This record gives sequence, structure tokens and C-alpha cells, in this order.
Amino acid sequence: PIRADFVVVANRLPVDLERMEDGTQRWRHSPGGLVTALEPFLRARRGAWVGWPGIADFEVEPFADDDLQLYPVPLSAEEFAEYYEGFSNATLWPLYHDVVVAPEFHRGWWNSYRRVNRRFAEAAAEVSAEGATVWVQDYQLQLVPAMLRELRPDLRIGFFLHIPFPPVELFMQLPWRTEIVRGLLGADLVGFHRPGGAQNFLWLARRLAGFEPSRGQVGVRSRPGVVQVGDRTVRVGAFPISIASAEMDKLARTKEIQKRAKEIRAEMGNPSRIMLGVDRLDYTKGIDVRLRAMHELLDEGQIQADDVKLIQIATPSRERIEHYKQMREDIERAVGRINGEFGRVGHPPVHYQHHSVDKKELVAFYAAADAMIVTPVRDGMNLVCKEYVACRPDLGGALVLSEFAGAAAELTSAFLVNPHNLDGVKDAMLAALNIDEAEGRRRMRALRRQVLTHDVDRWARSFLEALGTPLAD
Ligand code: UDP
Repeated sequence: PIRADFVVVANRLPVDLERMEDGTQRWRHSPGGLVTALEPFLRARRGAWVGWPGIADFEVEPFADDDLQLYPVPLSAEEFAEYYEGFSNATLWPLYHDVVVAPEFHRGWWNSYRRVNRRFAEAAAEVSAEGATVWVQDYQLQLVPAMLRELRPDLRIGFFLHIPFPPVELFMQLPWRTEIVRGLLGADLVGFHRPGGAQNFLWLARRLAGFEPSRGQVGVRSRPGVVQVGDRTVRVGAFPISIASAEMDKLARTKEIQKRAKEIRAEMGNPSRIMLGVDRLDYTKGIDVRLRAMHELLDEGQIQADDVKLIQIATPSRERIEHYKQMREDIERAVGRINGEFGRVGHPPVHYQHHSVDKKELVAFYAAADAMIVTPVRDGMNLVCKEYVACRPDLGGALVLSEFAGAAAELTSAFLVNPHNLDGVKDAMLAALNIDEAEGRRRMRALRRQVLTHDVDRWARSFLEALGTPLAD
């Protein structure tokens, strides 16, 4: 049996189960940012990862992937629909993203969420060695800290929320608000991207659970605080996540990427300017906003269809949820309208792609783009804007960034916009497209200073240090 000293608990395991044509199955590494960041910690101690393997109604035994122990938690198809698509993505996701669409509240979904959270907590309790550190990730598992503490009071438990934590007025809509707050307070350290999220949580801890916060220095760039919960101290702070900056910078400098970036421009007919958007197809990302802005700029003759192109990568996401289906139709109609009105055969102004691209191709897109357009109406952090910056060692390119992305607090040399103000978005796009070289380099240098010195490794280290389990090296 696995007994690990360092355990990550997340909705998904860091591997995908692939079904081959001959009916056999095999595991494929899915190296997300989180895995990369935590790898040194997982390898330095006996590490285990608890998560769902990505396929419903499917039981897998624990197994090892190199020296990382993987501990699968099964979900039935019904639980996937209720706990994941339902409560996580149709209740919590919109509620935590400023109710951009109306959250749905269903008692059945909540019951499923509670049941599945208990299963994750039980799995974590089983794999953890005496006194181990357990780091629970994200909004799908907010009840796990308290459930796990009840089972294993000896553990050191951290929790990090990867999406925004909402204003208290919105959080108060949740019928199960007190249970969620108490669930999170089971941790020794609760981390958010922004100090504002930590403040909101501290207010709710007092209002809903009756625990009086006191001020203390926790996390980076924040002055949130500490909550006394019985004889335990819960620390609450802000820890803005980031990317593997140096690695992306290095990749962007390679001949292969530079060559591919030139090819991409040539394939598009060497337009004078390329704009780029890279998002999951999600209603929080404001893809519609940038299409509307581009449409008006073309309409007004402020940009010419042959000069300025937009590449929009929109990766498939949560396709069984109604709002997502509707939004996909709206966005594809908007793309079609721009291309229909302003394009010529073989020369569409918008190059739209509804499937993902691999890392190298993505880096080549970043390297090829004169302006990166990031316009979410709410985003916990937003990593693609940081990736764009890391991929511009040439100091070329310009970034248009929504103030409502967590990254805006760090990337202050971007063209910051309110995505609800269409004229402001249009002005920022024009400014980014027409920026003079010296000004562009000045801004990009400032952006890169921030991104290259604040990478995902620094994020993980600062969180684990605040949790009291730094990685010795
Ligand atoms: N990404 C990718 N392939 C694609 C599009 C995106 O690997 O075709 C990655 C991208 O590099 C980034 C992540 O997906 O690391 C998106 O993270 P972000 O925080 O911007 O948005 P999220 O999808 O987490 O809301």
C-alpha cells in the first residue's frame, strides 16, 4: 500500500487514459503546469497524486508513473454529471465568476458533490503517511480539507483555489455557503490568487462560521490573515500562480520555433499585423468581446481585412453544458459574419480553430503574433497572457489584457482594458497594433521582468513555505 509524505489531491490525475484502436488502453502523460511545478516536491519526498482518471464508470488500481504514485478515485457517470458538470461547473463556476451566467442550485448536485468530496478525502487519508503534507486543489474539492482533517488530524493540509473567490454578496447566494466555508477552514493554509479573494474569505469565516480573523503576514504581496478555529490556526493568503517561464523563453528562442513562426505568417499571406487569442471556449473568456471589437474596427475602416488578421484558438470545453453549446454557436456565427462581410476567398480576416494545438505550435503562434488579445470578463489568473510574454525574448509584440484577469495585477505594462467597454477595447487593440517599436520594447521588457522572476516554481515554493513544509535544497 502507498504511504506518501507529500500528497496532491486534485479533480484530475496528471495522466489521461487513452483507448487504442485495437481496444487496449494506455496512460498518457498530460504535463499541465501544476504537474511540472509540483514535480520536484513530489520527487523529493515520497509523492502521491489522488485524482479522477478521466473516464466515468471505470475502476483502476493505484499505480506508479516513474517514481510518482497515482491513486485513482472512481466516478460514476451520474456523479460526473452531478458533481462535476453540475455542481462544480454549472453552480460554482458561474457563481465564482461574477455570475456571468446564472448559477443553478440543485440539492441533488450538492449531495453528489458532498459524496464525491468524501471519497477524495478518504482516498487522501489512505495514502498519507503519518504527519504527511496534503495539498488539495481547486473548487471541485472545497469540502475535502475539513473531511480529511476529521479522518486524519495528524496531517498538514493546504488548499489552493485556482479560480476567483467571489465577492461576499455573490457567495451568500449559495444555499450551502456555510458548509463550503467550514470545509475550507479544515485546512492549515487556504490560498487564493488575489488578496481580495482572501479578504472575502476571511469576512465569510467570521460571518458564517463565527471565527474572528486577526491580521498577519501570509503569502506574497498580501496582508490577509489568520483565523483561530478552536485550537487550530488557519492561515489565509494570496499566492498568484504562474508558468514555467524560463522553459517557455528557452523554447521560443530555438531556431525551430522562429522558423515555424515565419511560416505561420507566410501561410496567412504575410499580413502586416497578426492578432492572437487563445482560450478554452468558455463564456468567461470574452471571445465575443474581441470579435465585436474587430468587427467594428473593420466596419469603420480603422483596420483593413488584408492587413490585420486574427488567429483565434478556442479549445473545446464542457460541451455537454447548455450555456457552452449556446456560446459556441454565438461565437462561430460572429466569426462567420466577419469573414463573410470582409473576407475574400482564401483570405479570411479571422482564422478560427476549435481544437487545441500542441505546445510547440502554440509557442510559434505566440512568437508570430503582433498583438495578444486577452479579454475575459473574469479570470482567476489567466496563463496564456503570461506565456505570450515569456515567448517574446525579441521584445516584440504587445499585450491587450482585461483588468478582470488576476494577471492584470502583475502585468501593469499591458494595455489594460475593461472588457465591458467596447470602445476601450477597440482603442487598446489599435494602440497595440500601431505601437512604435521603442514603446513596445519598453512595455515588453517590463512585462518580462515580472513573468520571468515570478514563475510557477516560485508560486509552489511560497505556498509550501507558508504551509510550513518548505522543500529543502
Ligand atoms: N493550452 C494548450 N493548448 C491549446 C490552448 C491552450 O496547451 O491549444 C494551454 C495554455 O498553454 C495554458 C492553458 O492551456 O497553459 C490555459 O490556461 P489559462 O489559465 O489561460 O486558462 P484556463 O483554461 O485554465 O481557464
